[in-house]
Parts: sequence; structure tokens; C-alpha cells
Amino acid sequence: MTAEEHTGIKQLAKEGALDWSTKDGPYGALIVKFRAEAKEHYYRQQRRRCCYCSVEFQDHKLTYDAEHILDKADYKEYMFEPANLAAACKHCNGSKSNRSISATGERFATLSTTSGDYLIVHPHLDEWDHHLKFDEIGRIVPQAGSLKGRETSRICEFAALNATRLADEFAITRDGAAETALRTFHEVNDVARKRELLALLTDMAAHFDHAGSRAVIGALQSEIDEEGSLLAAGTAVLAADSNSADHADI
Ligand SMILES: [Zn+2]
Repeated sequence: MTAEEHTGIKQLAKEGALDWSTKDGPYGALIVKFRAEAKEHYYRQQRRRCCYCSVEFQDHKLTYDAEHILDKADYKEYMFEPANLAAACKHCNGSKSNRSISATGERFATLSTTSGDYLIVHPHLDEWDHHLKFDEIGRIVPQAGSLKGRETSRICEFAALNATRLADEFAITRDGAAETALRTFHEVNDVARKRELLALLTDMAAHFDHAGSRAVIGALQSEIDEEGSLLAAGTAVLAADSNSADHADI
């Protein structure tokens, strides 16, 4: 499309006169072409991987989406802006939807090119592996200390992706039960609840002998142990604080 056509489409989108899925009318054919080209461009540029979870796309356009980094419901003016587009898997695109990704919580006044203005890993402004990584049992986890990693995980609901992935190691057990337990395990903060879920998973895995499920259980167990000892240390510090406060009162 020509620069004038592109400007025209952006303006009409801003006014709400046309949409991302417009197929008819004077601009329908151009929009269809733009969408296909944008998807293809980012599919290749991102080396066929989702910009958020890094899953490898299958070579079929129905398996991934053109992603609007600033969502197209709230930012119609950037709906057809290439710098606001990327390629994402269905899971990440659907989970992120139109959740706010503004670091300040305020609406973006411009299409910012400053990484720090975005709560999550920005497909074009950040390096994915500075913020996220795959751990030893194949989960996507935040890099230590990365707030963007944690926020991307929350907004794109990686707990669900991780649960599905880990549940493969429990595939021969009860349908869906392992996946549900694994997802809850990653969503709750209560260590006691995590212990119950791990006991359930251990029980499931006891019915078959599989190195993959043993590795998952082992890794989750050491996480709980670590959290448990951190909590114990925290309680000890609090107790020591209150003791010293008591002494101060005297
Ligand atoms: Zn994804």
C-alpha cells in the first residue's frame, strides 16, 4: 500500500470507522493484505517464535496471531502501526487481551519507544532472555530479579502454559487432574496448599515409573523447601525484631 493509503487507514481506525477485521468497503482488500504481510513479517523476524512465551509456531497461519502490543481496543490509533505489532501464540494473545501494560498504570500518550514504560517484555525493545528463561524442567520462568519477567508471566498467564507442559509427564494418569494440580500449584502462594498439591502429584506418579514426573516432583519439592526455609527465616527475623522492640520499650 502507498504511504497515503496507510495514513488513511490509520486515521479511519483512530476514528473508529474501520477495524482490524474489516474486509469490506473501499479499504477492505488493503487491510486484509496489510494483516497478512504484518503477520508474515514478524513470524520471520521473530524466528517463528511467540514474542512472549517463545513457543515455536507451527508453519500454519492459523496457529498464531498478529499481536497488538498496545491493545487495539484501547489504542485504535496504533492498530495499523507496524511498531505496535508482533506475532504471538493464541495463548499469550488471548491471556494478555486488553490488560494494561503501562508501567505507570496511566494511559500511553504516545507509542513509547522506552522499554521502561512497559510493564512486560516488549517484543521490539527488550531482549527476551534478559527477563525470561526456561528452567531445568521446561517451565518459562522470570530471570532472577526481573520485574518485567514476572509481569509478563502474570499477564500472559504462564502458569497455565507451564502446567500444560509439565502435565505431559503425568499423561498416563487421571485425565486433566495433574494439569489442574500443577496449575494451582503455580498460582497459589500458600506453602501448605502447595504441599498438599505436591502430595497429590506424588501419589499420581507413584502408579507408574517415569523419570520425567520424578524430575518435576523433585524440582517442585525443592522449591517448597526453599520457600519454607525462607518463611522460617522471615518468622525468626520478625520474632527477633519484636524481641528487640520489647527491650526498647523497657
Ligand atoms: Zn506465547
